[in-house]
Amino acid sequence: MPKPITAYECIHGCGKFLKTYRIMERHEEACLCNLANRTCRTCLHDEKLTMGKFACGAGVEKGGEKIIRHCPQWTNTIAEE
Ligand SMILES: [Zn+2]
Repeated sequence: MPKPITAYECIHGCGKFLKTYRIMERHEEACLCNLANRTCRTCLHDEKLTMGKFACGAGVEKGGEKIIRHCPQWTNTIAEE
């Protein structure tokens, strides 16, 4: 019979599970889905193009990166009240 274990799920909804609390704390801090990191993943301006390349709808130069963090043009995809 398989042995159950305890796992931790990322609170930012990226779908990641880890076996230790401390490593998950570190992941959550750096997670691309963490709104505090202002990444393309959670930005309204993110545009998915063909061939797996990503462009920025706000014209930000990403220096060849698919996803950048702490973008000055970052806009939350979730409307704020
Ligand atoms: Zn995560």
